[in-house]
Amino acid sequence: MKDVQAFVAGFKRFQAGAVGPDSELFRELKQGQKPRTLLIGCSDSRVDPAIITDCVPGDLFVVRKVANLVPPCETDSGYHGVSAALEYAVCHLMVEHIIILGHSQCGGIKGLMEGVCDCATDSFIGKWVGIAKGAKEQVLRELPEKSSELQHRACEQAAILLSLENLRTFSWLRQRVEEKALLLHGWYYDLQTGTLSGYSSSSGKFELLA
Ligand SMILES: [Zn+2]
Repeated sequence: MKDVQAFVAGFKRFQAGAVGPDSELFRELKQGQKPRTLLIGCSDSRVDPAIITDCVPGDLFVVRKVANLVPPCETDSGYHGVSAALEYAVCHLMVEHIIILGHSQCGGIKGLMEGVCDCATDSFIGKWVGIAKGAKEQVLRELPEKSSELQHRACEQAAILLSLENLRTFSWLRQRVEEKALLLHGWYYDLQTGTLSGYSSSSGKFELLA
């Protein structure tokens, strides 16, 4: 694993590289960003969206949060970082796609399944992953006899669908979806098999993309 000095050395290579600040690409990007996709991913160090989709700067507008969760639209006095990023991406950048990228072995979903949100009201993690408690309840109802590994995996996928539903609670976002100016995607990256699946609303399942 790299330490901080290695990050500086890495930045020097980026500076001199094909997508660095002196590159052809950055001559355009210095004028502004026009990404067409918002990707909402997990904070997990193994699932960097730009690396696993082989993107370059300017391709993805990214939100990374524990368990790649999207909260429902709330207009209370709290600080709503995900909502602010959604508003900027949808209303200002006018993105055409939103991808929610979940993954296997998600620590946030493991915490949810193992009860971190049930009693720990003073835990930021507990409150946050509680956004997906409906997904947990669904999994325990539908797969009560399965191993914890299979239940966690099912919850990782159900939480993606729940976040897709929560996206539609933002009226300006729902409107763009209804106008077909914005497409929503649920993706699941399996670290064990190294594969990517996408949710198909016609089959009601995650199907292999790559
Ligand atoms: Zn995760």
